[in-house]
Amino acid sequence: MTFTPFDLRADPEDLRRNQCRRLAATVRRCAQAHPYYKRRLDPGLADRLDGGRLDALHDLAVTTKDDFVADADAFRLRLDPDAAEEYVLWDVACTAGTSGGPLASIYQTSYDFRGILFAQQRMAEIRGMRGDDRIMNLYPLTPQPHGAWMRCNHAAAVIGAAVVNGMSGSASMGFPIDRRFEDVVSLAATSSPTVLWGVPSYVRKVLQAVAGDGLRLPDLRMIAVSGEPCTPQLRRDLTALGEQCSGKPVEVSDSLGASELQAGLVECAHGSGHHNPAPELFMLESLDAQGAPVGDGDEGLLAITHVDRRGTVLLRYLLGDRVVLTHEPCPRCGLGGGRILEHRGRAGTRTKIRGSLVDLQSVSAAVEGVRGVREYQIRILGPDSQRDLDELQVLLEDDESEDALATRLADAVTTAVGIRPQVEFVASGSLSGPALKVRRIVDERWQAAADRKE
Ligand SMILES: [Zn+2]
Repeated sequence: MTFTPFDLRADPEDLRRNQCRRLAATVRRCAQAHPYYKRRLDPGLADRLDGGRLDALHDLAVTTKDDFVADADAFRLRLDPDAAEEYVLWDVACTAGTSGGPLASIYQTSYDFRGILFAQQRMAEIRGMRGDDRIMNLYPLTPQPHGAWMRCNHAAAVIGAAVVNGMSGSASMGFPIDRRFEDVVSLAATSSPTVLWGVPSYVRKVLQAVAGDGLRLPDLRMIAVSGEPCTPQLRRDLTALGEQCSGKPVEVSDSLGASELQAGLVECAHGSGHHNPAPELFMLESLDAQGAPVGDGDEGLLAITHVDRRGTVLLRYLLGDRVVLTHEPCPRCGLGGGRILEHRGRAGTRTKIRGSLVDLQSVSAAVEGVRGVREYQIRILGPDSQRDLDELQVLLEDDESEDALATRLADAVTTAVGIRPQVEFVASGSLSGPALKVRRIVDERWQAAADRKE
């Protein structure tokens, strides 16, 4: 079978019908050779999809992250001997379950890898990344294979751009291959990138050091980020620092990445929503708690379905994000195929604090909405010799220790969830660990229980 791209400016109904027919072929493959789905698929489903009935899919139960992580190999299609060249294992990426635990492998075959290159090409087109760009890949080399570092290099390859790798990280296993932070910073200055691409808080750290050392990035025009939410404050900081280093306007381009896609949903401009770059390869749905679709414009849980894949295949898979979705073409760039208008955080992170149920994502959202907040960590402390009750605590990285900021933050959290947190300041740089990403929520009560078990 040869791959045919869709016209993303076609009528949204035509686009959905084309997606349906391609999905029908995937469902037939799964019915034959997918260990997990073959027992669960209704034999008539592929025919109904072929007839353009996308609602036929709604009878299929959702797959959760925990279902997948429990037996990831059961989600890998078995070889079709008639199309063996499409099934050669190309690479593997790892993801963890909702509550941490063992890692699950996501398999990419020779066919899927070409699909990833295609999706990366579309992402670049949508966000305005070009062949004449010089990209600096600031994702760390991680202990396990992870999409971010790999796919940034692949994106550069497919669009014909130059790429320089920061090679940060602490996963070198003794090989003298990683670069110290100071060397990443001087490499940034000497390679003069037009695009910096990485986790937003780490890109900010690099830009702060570039500015602090009096170095310049005169050609910088775009900061592409994914891997953690790019909060309004992060966006302001990145824009200001980028402009300080380059002396001209710099655009921040955010992406909602997912290991299960090995690609990200990108904006054509800030505020335009996160576009599905490749509806030929994956489909987005927004579902209620029972797995029924909610309408365009209403909040639901984001589910993805692989429309055309040969390695790991997931159908109606809940990523764990609360979103508002639309299938209308983007008013700015005209592209259809599904677009996330609003990302409202992760679902299902509610916990009891002092006996009341608190949504920790609402705490995060409240903290991120406070002007002046940069790195933070939310901690839940259990009772001990000094405390009779659980405590909600917010640590803030800020060398100034401003009382006014602490009060603004405590007020915002109290308004959001009805519990007043204790706010503590810690020195800049003390919250980010070796993964270069701050752990936003730490429940010490679980940690204490785990320590007791050991
Ligand atoms: Zn657009």
